[in-house]
Amino acid sequence: MQVETPRSSGAGSVTGRRILVIEDDTDIRATLQTILATEGFTVETCGNGQQALSQLSTSSIPDLIILDLRMPIMDGWQFRVQQRNDPALAQIPVIAISADASAQAAAVDAAAYLKKPFDYTSLMNTVDRVLLAFDRRKLQSRLSELDSQTLAMRRLKNAFISNISHEIRTPMNAVLSLAQLIRDGLAGPLTNEQTRYLQVIERNGQQVLNLLSDVLDLARLEDDSLEITLDDVNIAAVMHATVSAVMPQALAKRVDVQVYVSEKLPRVRVDPVRIVQVFRHLVSNAVKFTEQGTVKILAEAQNESSYVVVHVCDSGIGIPEEAIPKIFDGFYQVDHRLERRHQGAGVGLTLVDKLVRLMNGHISVQSTVGAGSRFTVALPKADN
Ligand code: ADP
Repeated sequence: MQVETPRSSGAGSVTGRRILVIEDDTDIRATLQTILATEGFTVETCGNGQQALSQLSTSSIPDLIILDLRMPIMDGWQFRVQQRNDPALAQIPVIAISADASAQAAAVDAAAYLKKPFDYTSLMNTVDRVLLAFDRRKLQSRLSELDSQTLAMRRLKNAFISNISHEIRTPMNAVLSLAQLIRDGLAGPLTNEQTRYLQVIERNGQQVLNLLSDVLDLARLEDDSLEITLDDVNIAAVMHATVSAVMPQALAKRVDVQVYVSEKLPRVRVDPVRIVQVFRHLVSNAVKFTEQGTVKILAEAQNESSYVVVHVCDSGIGIPEEAIPKIFDGFYQVDHRLERRHQGAGVGLTLVDKLVRLMNGHISVQSTVGAGSRFTVALPKADN
């Protein structure tokens, strides 16, 4: 066997990788040691299986074993039996080297076999191949370990969200009911100022409840546990429900909300409750990000298309081009500073996107900074 100049290893960086050579023939052992060390491996050697086992019990585990089969005291087959029975050693890949016929050598059940005499290239190709396969297996098992950890963490997070939502919702409902009771004059007459304060309490409390239910829905969508019920829905009715929900917000600013939706549009096949939630988010965003101007809701249906298309357009601040691909990501906000002008948690559009998909539709957006945005939702027509 000839020692050649080092070549680049297919097994990636070999720095710090350790190989144990178990071989009784001193010449072959020395040659293997020289080649592998020249290639950058840290090499340890032993003359038989028993020596190897005692060495392995005191030193750290090597990345690979090169094992001669015919050796005195403890041969390669006996060594393999011991190795496989020891959980600390069982995973180390083995290249068996032997002058024996392959059927006999196969009984050792190694990762690869080399028939003596072998040359430099076939040795290094085999070492690279076995180390690569071993690395890939290790990576795969690490990945599946990480997958199950992620799943467990997500379950934990969602259980936490659902507990905390319940813990906040219950007292908040009590606060809101009492605020309403006082505002209705059931606890005595109120001044105008007191009524105004109570309205602020109710509005803010309601915002907290809405955010909680959005976060809870998002957790359910991640778990695939959010159930939707599809029905034939008139999109005009959805728009009326949506607009009346965002009207106080629009009236408080100088934003005009216009709806162009014909009652004659074909019905869509969606969840009647979830579709209102979708448009409540889109229209309320349109109002929120428009200081002064118009929000238009338009719906259209082409005969040849199987979708009804609804556009929510505003003349607001717009979205920078580079941010558009990110706005549907959870908790993403173009302006994420704590002192930003617009309230929000960055949950709405993720929820909208997931809900629309769940109802077999899709959403897209076009926007120009300073000129406004157009969110377009395509919803499947109901079968006639
Ligand atoms: P938020 O609670 O922040 O509104 P969303 O998920 O609804 O969360 O929206 C994510 C981000 O997308 C917003 O923070 C905002 O930066 C941007 N965005 C959404 N709708 C509009 C819009 N109509 N005009 C401008 N920016 C918008």
